[in-house]
Amino acid sequence: MKSAELAHFERLLLDERGGMVRDLERIRASAVQSALENRSAGVEPTDSVGDDRNDDAIAAREVEALKELDEALRILYEAPEEYGVCVACGSPIALNRLEIVPATRYCQDDAKRQQNPRRRPRPDAGRQLLAAAG
Ligand SMILES: [Zn+2]
Repeated sequence: MKSAELAHFERLLLDERGGMVRDLERIRASAVQSALENRSAGVEPTDSVGDDRNDDAIAAREVEALKELDEALRILYEAPEEYGVCVACGSPIALNRLEIVPATRYCQDDAKRQQNPRRRPRPDAGRQLLAAAG
């Protein structure tokens, strides 16, 4: 990958990271805020409201995504020749794919394979065979 392209993706990764850190701070601030409000309202901390749990799920996803971004940035700095190369098949990842998901480690095909690994046979297939065998 050309160094101008690397610089471009570094920019994308840093921008995305900045947005994520801001989101996490906002979520944390609102969690602290609602904890304080609950306490002054005499609500037990265990009476968590739906919103809090939703924020927790979002925060957990963002933390995961943040780890991926950090890992991508680490590769970009420490082993730039490995950035944008699929870890599964070693082919260069399409630039237009990196534009959308700059932290990805997989080419389009391998990303799909990661999402739905080997299709399982239908759970009733075996039973039908047994029934047919009598
Ligand atoms: Zn691949």
